[in-house]
Amino acid sequence: MIERILFVAVLGIAVYLIRKRVMQISSNIRIGKAQALQPSPQRWRNVLLVAFGQSKMFKRPIPAVLHFIIYAGFLIINLEVLEFVLDGLLGTHRLFAPYLGALYPVLMNFFELLAVGVLTACVVFLIRRNVVRLPRFQSPELTKWPRLDANIILLTEIVLMLAILKMNAADQILQSRNSHYTPTGSLFFSGLLIPFYKGFSTSFLVFVERACWWFHIIGILAFAVYVTYSKHLHIFLAFPNTYFARTAPVGQLTNMPVVTREVKSMLGLPPDSDVPPGEAGRFGAKDINDLSRHVLLSAYSCTECGRCTSECPANQTGKKLSPRKIMMDVRDRMEDVGSQLAAGKPGLDDGKSLLNDYITREEINACTSCNACVEACPVLINPLDVIIELRRYVAMEESGSPAAWNMMFQNIETNFAPWKFPASDRAAWTQG
Ligand code: SF4
Ligand code: SF4
Repeated sequence: MIERILFVAVLGIAVYLIRKRVMQISSNIRIGKAQALQPSPQRWRNVLLVAFGQSKMFKRPIPAVLHFIIYAGFLIINLEVLEFVLDGLLGTHRLFAPYLGALYPVLMNFFELLAVGVLTACVVFLIRRNVVRLPRFQSPELTKWPRLDANIILLTEIVLMLAILKMNAADQILQSRNSHYTPTGSLFFSGLLIPFYKGFSTSFLVFVERACWWFHIIGILAFAVYVTYSKHLHIFLAFPNTYFARTAPVGQLTNMPVVTREVKSMLGLPPDSDVPPGEAGRFGAKDINDLSRHVLLSAYSCTECGRCTSECPANQTGKKLSPRKIMMDVRDRMEDVGSQLAAGKPGLDDGKSLLNDYITREEINACTSCNACVEACPVLINPLDVIIELRRYVAMEESGSPAAWNMMFQNIETNFAPWKFPASDRAAWTQG
């Protein structure tokens, strides 16, 4: 009974903390602008293929396979966690075993196979990050907390998987010594640990089994809370993010409706019926409240994998631009503003803004708008959307673009071409 009360208390605390954090994230995202969503069957295709099927990951097969093992392990081992939770609530031990009969050992062996797969994949990922030191994990934005965060998650997954195997090994020995223990059949991978535990007393094995059970379930609950503060939030948010992702062709820039309306009016064309008349508001984006809610959601969905940065031509040629950092900065600004608002502080009026205090003009000006980052992202994040909006603000609200660009803008405005020749001379090259 004490164990059950303790379990309910631990579960209650975890649910409370997760709920609180989810509400915080949701209100942070709602700082952004609401955006009308064009319905399209492509959205569900994206969820199924890109988020669920991880199709874009497979452009790099080795990390894709390792990542898929961890992902499948996360999804499928959760079925075992369901048994853990019900056992904890009801005070039972291996609740599903009598109901599943001969299927139970098959499932348990499959879970153990996945656990070993997850463990191996995590070890390889740790080596890639910390020993081989892949260049895309060594960028300046990936020091301190982001690096520690990735390592914490990988190490946690390793110890959680080890706890399952040790618990099953002790449990199997106890089954042979005590008829009160529900038989699970022979389990291959945890069975390899049996020789190590066999010489210990029954009371010690009961302690090991219980300690691993508690360690695993508390670890899972702590992990669930921790994930909401970590880049690993992508394991949940990749699904809505792919649903809300742009369905327009890559490279098609979104026109600003108010500008389109003005241009059409100047050309004597009828205005689009879906563009409301009225104040233009701010052109482009200076801070997170100028960005759409989907962009803010995508910042929380970023896995910090760096595939975008490793493909970015500006980054490759030594410019101070990393599309991964752009998304991390949007998330950091959201977190800063959100925590200020939650504490009754000024929030957006704190004297800072996304542009200048988090992302510099040098960074956004370095972008070639090539879309390589968009193409590379495994969860359909579009860092270029953020860059374009920031640039629009600088160009249209501040006339602060580099002098050469301003000259080009002026030429387009007066000559309808980037060059300084009048439109009437456009065909002059055909003469003589
Ligand atoms: S669009 Fe800009 S940020 Fe993205 S890869 Fe190209 S240059 Fe880099
Ligand atoms: S934006 Fe996409 S590609 Fe870039 S780090 Fe985030 S998840 Fe990876």
